[in-house]
Amino acid sequence: MSRLDVPSPVVSAELQAQLNVLRESYAAKLDEKIDQIGEGWQLYQSHDEGQQRREALASLHRLTHTLAGSGATFGFPAVSSAARRAEVVLKSLLQSGAPLESEHAQEIVAALEQLRGAARLPEGVESFFASLDDEPLQPEERPLYLFSDAPDGIPAWAASLEAFGYALQFFDRPGALGAACREKIPAAIIADCHSAPLNCERDGVLLSSVLSEISRRQETPVPLLWTCQNSDLLTRLQAVRLGGDAFFPFPLDVDSLLVKLDDLTSHSAPEPFRILIVDDEPSLGRLFSVILRQAGMETCVVSDPIEIMAPLVDFRPDLILMDIYMPGCSGAELAAVIRQQEAYIGIPIVFLSVESDISKQQEAMRQGGDDFLLKPVQPRHLVSAVTIRATRARALRNLMVRDSLTGLLNHTKTREQLVIELDRARRLGNTVSLAMIDIDHFKKVNDIYGHATGDRVLRSLSRLLGQRLRQTDVIGRTGGEEFAVIMNGSGVEDARRKLEIVRAAFANVAHFSDGHEFRVTFSAGVASSPPFSDAVSLSEAADRALYAAKGAGRNCIQLADSEAMWSARGPL
Ligand code: GH3
Ligand code: MG
Ligand code: MG
Repeated sequence: MSRLDVPSPVVSAELQAQLNVLRESYAAKLDEKIDQIGEGWQLYQSHDEGQQRREALASLHRLTHTLAGSGATFGFPAVSSAARRAEVVLKSLLQSGAPLESEHAQEIVAALEQLRGAARLPEGVESFFASLDDEPLQPEERPLYLFSDAPDGIPAWAASLEAFGYALQFFDRPGALGAACREKIPAAIIADCHSAPLNCERDGVLLSSVLSEISRRQETPVPLLWTCQNSDLLTRLQAVRLGGDAFFPFPLDVDSLLVKLDDLTSHSAPEPFRILIVDDEPSLGRLFSVILRQAGMETCVVSDPIEIMAPLVDFRPDLILMDIYMPGCSGAELAAVIRQQEAYIGIPIVFLSVESDISKQQEAMRQGGDDFLLKPVQPRHLVSAVTIRATRARALRNLMVRDSLTGLLNHTKTREQLVIELDRARRLGNTVSLAMIDIDHFKKVNDIYGHATGDRVLRSLSRLLGQRLRQTDVIGRTGGEEFAVIMNGSGVEDARRKLEIVRAAFANVAHFSDGHEFRVTFSAGVASSPPFSDAVSLSEAADRALYAAKGAGRNCIQLADSEAMWSARGPL
């Protein structure tokens, strides 16, 4: 009896059940949320000009903002768009501090009416999952509070932060920043000071006292970044004393600021190790699996050694834990077979056996094993042996496969990955799209602003790709200013739609060099399999589409012409 225990389907069934429960409880609370917004609107109008009225406005804005963000995720897109309509007006009132005019009020009342109607629309579970499917494209936005005492309001560079997945809220009064922090703790705070940090003051409230209050209340400190016009030692010292995690003098290097922000706000746990267990005794395989899973790893158990190829490709193990004595094919033979394939030369293989004869152990190692553990093995030993090997193997692989400037996959690895993804898609009957991206007139960027600035632009595009695409998309840097994205399960139109968002976002990013601000764009070509079924024809098709995009004036995306393929090969 052979058995293949790939964990993901189990997890996703569980996940789906959990999601359904979440959706139902969201739907049950929707009316209440909308009532709250209605009450917030009444409260805001009931106050005269002053602090209370501003607070009511901020809280009303937050309610509509939250609803706009959550509605579609839970299957209520119409709720999202109605809430968004109100939010846009409230946000502009909040930011400008302008009085409420009758056209604002009319728009808000209309949006609230639309909202009540939208919540009554029956929408199926299908739309819930459909919207979830789209969701990973835009990973959750991280709330970021920006305080500035600049005389002309929100600083120009701030808009760039939104392109990188930060939901920015702007404050020009320390008191308002404090109030917002009491409502919701942001992922980070940026304090932009034109006066000395300790003197930032409005309405008699000092920024320094607001910041100390925030840090007193929070157990884990909120990351705080300073951007200051003065960079003398005293200013820097004040910033440190107020709990600054980073300090950026003017002219501001926005790219470094973003790198630091990402550093400080991403607490993403490292990807768990994936361990493939090969043991002909199913109950042992399961036991090892339970032990390793408890240690936070993902496992896949194979009890027939002949069936190892599929999980090797699909499960992409970091390490293989293998029994030596198995019917049909021994562990040592299997190791030799795995090592024959270049793509799998780097995966550590750890043998598990009752074999205590050293010479037999050595024979197994000669065939391609990396380590030998004697059964019965203590759970603690198993976990530590696997962790040590897998950690080292990952570090080595990263060095070999990653580009040092951007951390993306290098050219060779991207090519290899394309072959693997195409294989997988063929077996599963899926579509794969390949996008080739090339920065426009990049030579000019280097010529005008220098190579170091050029490098920063490359890093900013790679970060944007990483943030805006799904985790399952493979992103590589295939040349100097050339990138490739492999999108599993995306047809050519879907891939274009996703890339279009990245294209527009990148074109909008302001880059800075010695106080000069400039923009950079890219062009891309997209092709998919089918119809281009092998890595070579797919890459060539995407490349041709990229040239077409350059020819069409750049800063655009072109799709591969599948007609061209048929005519090149003659009629079917
Ligand atoms: P096009 O719109 O036609 O793509 O024009 P282009 O200027 O981007 O294209 P071209 O291929 O002529 O120039 C690419 C430039 O990319 C030339 C090279 O100096 C620059 N470049 C390549 N690798 C790097 C790198 O790692 N860092 C920096 N800063 N520049 C690089
Ligand atoms: Mg180029
Ligand atoms: Mg170029």
